[in-house]
Amino acid sequence: MTQFDIIVIGAGPAGSAAATWAAKQGRSVALIDKAAFPRTKLCGGLFTERSRAYYHEIFGQDVDLTHAVTRDEIAFWYDGRELAVLKDIPPLHLTMRLDLDTTMLTHALDAGVEDYTGHHISELTETSLKLRNGPILSAAVIIGADGVNSVVAKQLFGKSFDTKTIGFGLEIEAPLSEQNPKNHPLRIDFAAATWGYGWSFPKQGSTTVGVGGLRAPNPDMKDHMQRYMRTLGLPSEEVKIKGHHLPFGDFRPTPGRAHILLAGDAAGLVDPITGEGIGFAMKSGQLAAEAACNALKSNAPHTAIDLYKAELTDMHRNLRIARNLRRIIFAPRWQKAFIGTFRRSGTVRMMYMRLLAGEVEYPELARRVLTRLPRYLLNAIRRTP
Ligand SMILES: Cc1cc2nc3c(=O)[nH]c(=O)nc-3n(C[C@H](O)[C@H](O)[C@H](O)COP(=O)(O)OP(=O)(O)OC[C@H]3O[C@@H](n4cnc5c(N)ncnc54)[C@H](O)[C@@H]3O)c2cc1C
Repeated sequence: MTQFDIIVIGAGPAGSAAATWAAKQGRSVALIDKAAFPRTKLCGGLFTERSRAYYHEIFGQDVDLTHAVTRDEIAFWYDGRELAVLKDIPPLHLTMRLDLDTTMLTHALDAGVEDYTGHHISELTETSLKLRNGPILSAAVIIGADGVNSVVAKQLFGKSFDTKTIGFGLEIEAPLSEQNPKNHPLRIDFAAATWGYGWSFPKQGSTTVGVGGLRAPNPDMKDHMQRYMRTLGLPSEEVKIKGHHLPFGDFRPTPGRAHILLAGDAAGLVDPITGEGIGFAMKSGQLAAEAACNALKSNAPHTAIDLYKAELTDMHRNLRIARNLRRIIFAPRWQKAFIGTFRRSGTVRMMYMRLLAGEVEYPELARRVLTRLPRYLLNAIRRTP
């Protein structure tokens, strides 16, 4: 049996951030992933300035954007009509997860983390795990950063997410040859899915096109996707469309138990309005590692969950407010009123933009948006449980 201070399961943004942060504090860390890297992850790859700041703080260097596209202009559409084009917005970076995640893993290994990527777990207990054809590893603290289908969450709570509240996204990577490179905007389409939206994100050499939203009201998500592809002038037949769950506002108030912590998608930390998850994954990974290190320092690994929960208070508060605000933006019966307000009010548009770019937090947005909404809409929202 090989003993570590901390085992991190999953080497996405949450796992690499957690492992790096703990290793930098002198802890022995094993980082396990069933995938061998580089690996892909279905994702729009939109990386905000907030994510960039987290990245810098955790990994001690700026993110490499050589292979990314950066835009300061975005188009919003609704029901096939252009609503607004916002110029001079805070920069939005469109990354490829293949590059981004591999670089984060490299930072973790450079910090001294033991590399167990490309290894499947065959047995998992509360303090140890067995790798298929490999050793048994044990640790005082385990961090489950193994994504939305987390085996660690399943072990703790019997299931990794709630099918009634989970989100789902579909995407294709459209080659540039199928589009006019000059007409290659960064674009968001409200109403491309029910309780969700569509996106067209320019990359170097391709465009990531997708639709996503709550899964329950969208049993026909593939139809939404094909319709959206036709709207963008893309061939929708014989194209391989890939899908993945995303915890769109489906966070766990207590993400773990005693010395076992969940971070990133495994803890449900995805913005319920924008769908942004990379930044929350990195930040929660860092906070989980901080809590784990502090619990180990006081020789009380079982207190890690209480320390972690306290660290997550602000993030949870933000996500809770966002989940309430989401009703205004996405609920079919109010969406038209929201779209009208969005079309008329430059302030609401800019606030939405600053939110997407990670410049403003939800409490401020809620204050500003709510003062601009028609009174009947506010009353209707207040009446909704
Ligand atoms: C269609 C779609 C579009 C999205 N677009 C954006 C976007 O544009 N911007 C944004 O910020 N967010 C976006 N998100 C959300 C974002 O992808 C996630 O929030 C983010 O990847 C979460 O990071 P993570 O480290 O928690 O999990 P992941 O990135 O999912 O990483 C989990 C890791 O755990 C590993 N793993 C899983 N199970 C096991 C196991 N049993 N044993 C060992 N390893 C395991 C996996 O191989 C993986 O490497 C999108 C999501 C979807 C589905």
